[in-house]
This record gives sequence, C-alpha cells and structure tokens, in this order.
Amino acid sequence: MTKQRLYLFDTTLRDGQQTPGIDFSVEDKIAIARLLDVFGIDYVEGGYPGANPTDTAFFQKKRTESAKFVAFGMTKRAGVSASNDPGLAALVQSKSDAICFVAKSWDYHVRVALGCTNEENLESIKASVETAVASAKEAMVDCEHFFDGFKANPDYALACAKTAFDAGARWVVLCDTNGGTQPSEVREIVGKVIAGGIPGDHLGIHAHDDTGQAVANSLAAVEAGVRQIQGTLNGIGERCGNANLITIIPTLSLKSAFADRFETGISAEDLTGISRLSRAFDELLNRAPEPQAPYVGSSAFATKAGIHASALAKEPATYEHVPPEAVGNRRRVMVSDQGGKANFLAELKRRGIEVPRDD
Ligand SMILES: [Zn+2]
Repeated sequence: MTKQRLYLFDTTLRDGQQTPGIDFSVEDKIAIARLLDVFGIDYVEGGYPGANPTDTAFFQKKRTESAKFVAFGMTKRAGVSASNDPGLAALVQSKSDAICFVAKSWDYHVRVALGCTNEENLESIKASVETAVASAKEAMVDCEHFFDGFKANPDYALACAKTAFDAGARWVVLCDTNGGTQPSEVREIVGKVIAGGIPGDHLGIHAHDDTGQAVANSLAAVEAGVRQIQGTLNGIGERCGNANLITIIPTLSLKSAFADRFETGISAEDLTGISRLSRAFDELLNRAPEPQAPYVGSSAFATKAGIHASALAKEPATYEHVPPEAVGNRRRVMVSDQGGKANFLAELKRRGIEVPRDD
C-alpha cells in the first residue's frame, strides 16, 4: 500500500514567539530555521514581514534550503484594493516561498474585530489568496477560531474555508485558536468540512494546548483526513502552548496506527536526531529540558531498579513502548526511592541523629 504524505509545518518562529519571556533575535531565527530545515520539516513559518524590524530583516533573505519558507500576515483590509494594501505588499515582497494569511472565520469576530461585513471578509480572503498565487507564492489560509466559528455558524465558517480553497490556496488550515475544542469535535467538524467540498489533502490543523489535548486534536484531525499539521518545537506558544511537534513526529513515525498509513519528510535516521533537536532548542532558550517530555525527556525511558531490575536487564523492550534509540534517547535504570531513603536513614544513624517516631 502506498503511504499518504503528511506535511509538517513549524510555527515556532511565529506563534511560538507569543510565549511569555521569549523574544527571538534575527540571529536566533536564522539558527532555528536552519535546525528545522536540516531536520526535515516541510514548512518553516518565520514571522510577520513588515510588522516589526526583526521580521522584516529576517525576510530579506530566504532562510531555508529544503523547507518552504513561509511569511505570515493578515488578509488585505476591507475597503482597499489588494494592490493598495501595504501589509499585503510586504508579504509579497518578502523572500518567502509561501504566504500564510490569517483570516477570520467566525462571523462574530468579523463583525466585532474587523468591523466589516461577512461578504467583505470573504472578498478579502479571495483577493489576498489570488495576489499571493499571482506573485508565484504558495498560498495558505489560517482560518482563525475555525472550530468555535463552525459551532456558532457552520455555513459561514465553511464559506471562509471554501473561498480560500476556490481562490487557489494550497492549504486551508483549521485553527483551534482558543484551544478548547475536544478531539471528538475536531474529528466531527473536519469530516463536515471535507463533506463540504475541501479535500483532506488541502486541509491543515493548528491546535493549542489549553485542555492538554493539542497533540490529540492534531492526531484526531489527521485521522479525519487533514494532511498538514502545524506545531512548535517543545510545544512553546502563548498560554498553554501549541501542538508539540517533538511529540507528534515520533508518534507519526513509530506508531502503527499512523506509520502504516502515512509518511512524513522525516526519515528514520532524521528521527534519531529529535532528542538532540529538542535539547538544542531548550539550550537556545536557556531553559531546563522537561524530564518527563514524551519520547525525548531524560525520564522517558527511565525505570527504577527494584522488582523490575532483573527483568529490565534481560528484556528492556518489555518496559518500553518504543526503542529509545529510535528517537535518540537512552535507557536509564535508577536507584529506587526506597534505596535512597535507606541510605539517608543509615547516614542519620552514623551521625548519631535520632529520628523521632511518629506515634
Ligand atoms: Zn495559534
């Protein structure tokens, strides 16, 4: 059976930059873009050219070799033509391969945040996508608040997505901007969008982790048919973070529920570099790595010695859901808490310290 291709889209440099306390310099962005590019990510989103000096400087050159370099920005404003919109001009002039437009897809936000009519918003989506395509860039549209918008007004949310697709967007990305959607809802709504006329191989998912389910929501979307997954390194992002690509990638590559049906641009050999990639990124941020991070954390394959020790030595796979080498991590056997406590009590006794009994 030929496998279907899934595309990985990294937004560490754009949405990840919303993390409190994180502010990338141009040099940081260049280094991170290279790391992602060499690792095998398909799309590297770099920020908002024209919106601030760092991003404008970053987009003066193409910063990736294999990955597509993506500029992010708003659709054109209502009431001005595409050719007279300075924001759109900055996106087109940037040295990007692709433009990801953010568009409102919840009628409530169109009215309150944009202050334009529903039809004007659709027209902005159409004209922006057409401008990107005419300038030989790949176009994609992040449909902001898509799942909440769909619950409130399914026809309008779908009209926004369909307008983007019909205008020539390579990808229409369904965003769970507030991060509160549940996997079952993601599955159901993605199914309705596909039934509504947008093929799954033109759909993406952008999930936030506000209920701790950004990874689950991304995987539910894949099961329902989407073929592009957006996320960040180590799950950084505003509030509770974005979908963690460092967790999603090994799952897609190593779990038969996904690996039997899909392939990504990450080879088995690339995958052995993922623990290093995760730690290198923490080092750049000056953060301590999360020991319990799935797949890559220092505790991910650690087992306490004790009743398991001899079985672990004979047959380590019994205690591991995947081989640690597959993700460049290693097996660790730790002295048990009981051993540690016994040593501590022995030390107290040696020093003549009495431990009062609790009775
Ligand atoms: Zn986001």
